[in-house]
Amino acid sequence: MIDQTQTNPDAIIDDESPICPKCGAELWRQSVHNGVGWEYGPYGCEDCKWSEWEIFDLSNGQSNIRDGLIFDQWGMAMRIENI
Ligand SMILES: [Zn+2]
Repeated sequence: MIDQTQTNPDAIIDDESPICPKCGAELWRQSVHNGVGWEYGPYGCEDCKWSEWEIFDLSNGQSNIRDGLIFDQWGMAMRIENI
């Protein structure tokens, strides 16, 4: 289980209607059921690429490339050669 209070104690995001703190657009996040409960990734913004988790935040125009993988604002990775 991901403890979001640990990763981003300043984030105040309403799960009922998550709104981007940077641009005001609606946020969404990845979810996966692990057989016991739901696990969630960070909220991310489609419009400005803001991410709830600072390591995935692309809202300043940077790209997030590590070890041959490129990460989006939801923390999903793609191999660079597939882009
Ligand atoms: Zn945004």
